[in-house]
Amino acid sequence: MGIEKNPETEGRASYAGASFALLTMHAKEREIAPRFEQALGASVTLVDSFDTDTLGSFTRDVPRFGSQLDAARRKAELAIELSGIPLGLGSEGSFAPGPFGLVSFNLEVLTLIDRQRGLEITGAVRLPGHHSSGSFDDWDKLTAFAEDIKFPSHAVVLRPNDEHDLRIRKDIADWDALHTAFQECVSLSERGIVFVESDLRAHRNPSRMQNIGAACDDLLSRMLCACPACAAPGFGLARYEIGLPCAWCGEPTNDWKAQEFRCVICPHLESRPRTDLKTADPAHCPFCNP
Ligand SMILES: [Zn+2]
Ligand SMILES: [Zn+2]
Repeated sequence: MGIEKNPETEGRASYAGASFALLTMHAKEREIAPRFEQALGASVTLVDSFDTDTLGSFTRDVPRFGSQLDAARRKAELAIELSGIPLGLGSEGSFAPGPFGLVSFNLEVLTLIDRQRGLEITGAVRLPGHHSSGSFDDWDKLTAFAEDIKFPSHAVVLRPNDEHDLRIRKDIADWDALHTAFQECVSLSERGIVFVESDLRAHRNPSRMQNIGAACDDLLSRMLCACPACAAPGFGLARYEIGLPCAWCGEPTNDWKAQEFRCVICPHLESRPRTDLKTADPAHCPFCNP
């Protein structure tokens, strides 16, 4: 019944030409604003009157609280309160070590809170990131480490002793500043040891900034997809259903067998079966290859 709806055009129409408020002190608008302009003809208004570092930061001088998604939501709510614009964007990232400590993974979420429609849409990506740390008492070893972690394009943070010391040196983005900070921290440390790590704030970490752009792409593709049942924007992948049958014995494995798409407003959901694989590698089967 009714007129047939095209999810793509419905989604675009919802936000075409709109204005969005983004809370950031770390220049995230550089990645986000051009994408909103291109995908939606929409503008992004920067809200920088609130120190987002007080919400928790990577550099551990302010303790983090709540989950990453809650932090992104909080920033989006603050963007709305501070700007008076009913569409707020909040971004939050985290880093976790990868297998064997070779790479780290960067989870980025970008959340839209839409007060007019009473909905929330989140884009997310999990991609390799640049996060590394080490303890140094020797300038030559520190310079080798710094080059490894892409210094000076990627900045570093220094502390005397260890990662718990509060006498932090931030915004170290050239070799002279690194040398000065190293000498200061050496003299502050009873053992002459300096803890050095990647600065993970977006404007100091270009790899992370790129990942924020990818999370923005994911958010936009969700905003552009309308629910087939109620036409609300934000219809998108909500979870993977596991249980792809084993190619040998047919028992369910931990590989995914379908993607579940959900509406952010109504109960409508669609389970879309996996198309690239019909059965799982027996190596992933708990019975054939325990
Ligand atoms: Zn099996
Ligand atoms: Zn719906």
